[in-house]
Amino acid sequence: MAGCLCPDAHVDTWITADRDHCWHPFTRQGEWEKTDPLVLVGGSGVWLTDSKGRKYIDGNASIWTNIHGHGHPVISQAIKDQLDQVAHTSYLGFANPRASELAERLCGFFPDSGLERVFYSDDGSTAVECAVKMAIQYRLQTGEPDRTEFIAFDQCYHGDTMGAASLGGVGAFFERFRKFGFPVQHVRDLDELLAVSPEQIGRTAAVVIEPLVQGVNQIRPWPEGMLRAIRHWCDQHGVHLILDEVMTGFGRTGSMFACQREEVVPDFLCLAKGLTGGYLPLAATLVQAEIYQGFLGGAEKAFYYGHSYTANQLGCAAALANLDLFEQEQTLELLPEKVDLLGRLLNELAERSDLVIEIRQCGLVAGGELRAPDGSAFPVTDRVGETVCLLARDHGLLTRAILDTVVVLPPLSITADEIRHLCAALEAAINDWSHEQTF
Ligand code: PMP
Repeated sequence: MAGCLCPDAHVDTWITADRDHCWHPFTRQGEWEKTDPLVLVGGSGVWLTDSKGRKYIDGNASIWTNIHGHGHPVISQAIKDQLDQVAHTSYLGFANPRASELAERLCGFFPDSGLERVFYSDDGSTAVECAVKMAIQYRLQTGEPDRTEFIAFDQCYHGDTMGAASLGGVGAFFERFRKFGFPVQHVRDLDELLAVSPEQIGRTAAVVIEPLVQGVNQIRPWPEGMLRAIRHWCDQHGVHLILDEVMTGFGRTGSMFACQREEVVPDFLCLAKGLTGGYLPLAATLVQAEIYQGFLGGAEKAFYYGHSYTANQLGCAAALANLDLFEQEQTLELLPEKVDLLGRLLNELAERSDLVIEIRQCGLVAGGELRAPDGSAFPVTDRVGETVCLLARDHGLLTRAILDTVVVLPPLSITADEIRHLCAALEAAINDWSHEQTF
């Protein structure tokens, strides 16, 4: 399908069916129904193709999932080979070869650390959801029934299922559901964590954080050393550490996992998005052996949690191929140059533009914040970030803004030339927008 020119009649049918029957995530549907959506039909490398044959750089890695590019023959072949065996089998009561191999490979990234059990689920939200439920149940059955609350960070995002949403700190998404969730204390930074009262500590099962950089909070890197300090605090107070590496996992920040950059080993490690290279939905929650031990025993200690597609064989096969590619294509070894180039070009862009107030970056996760020339924030209702991203399409770039921060998070396989194209397209879009303004 890649590169195809779809007959207009088909495209019209898809758009009509979308308008009549589809409901998109995080979308103002009232407006959506009145616009002609871009219909994506193909992908090759970092490029996506729409139904009219136009090509765009996937600047958002298809919601932060894609690692080695689209249509990669190694991942495609792994999925096809698995399809010839079997697509999906129950993981409730049965093992499967790909899930066994993958669990061993994932734990192999953390040798002798105790992080040696893998619980599979389907997406980032459920990877966090099950960590939270495990953290609660562990306390209930190991003699600490009052330690079932959580500490998370302001403006954090850990997914949309009710447990993950309870942790969430983005008011616009989660406030209306707050009273239906469980108690979470939100802290702004390390200092506020260190100042949490002894009473609160005594009630706390775990601290939850996106290590090194918050994604949905407009790409905000944490101060260096903070993760290590949090690990130390957790150890001192008998609190578990849940790391949400749904976005940062699989090379995004420069090492395979962000926690490795500060030599921190969590009690729970939540992985999804890039786990399958962005090809199929699959998630994994890695758990410390000691916590797992707390679930051994009779029926009363079992973890009653799971999904129909847990440990899907196609997903696990894609994930194994994804890991193979890191070695075959030297993905991590080639990354530092790309990270430097992206940072340099974005900062040069910011110097030329009086609208880009700040570039925030951590590995191949970057955001450029737009402000008015006098430095003031644009009114939220102006939706400047969103408009700039729409204009970028005319220059061959697909990406997304979070408020007025344009997110740049391409597949790790992006080349230097493609990084240049991406930055040039972004600059052209910002210029297009500013030419229409009277400041
Ligand atoms: N945690 C983080 C840090 C995320 O960025 C996301 C998704 N943006 C999630 C969890 C939720 O993942 P999913 O959308 O796959 O449920």
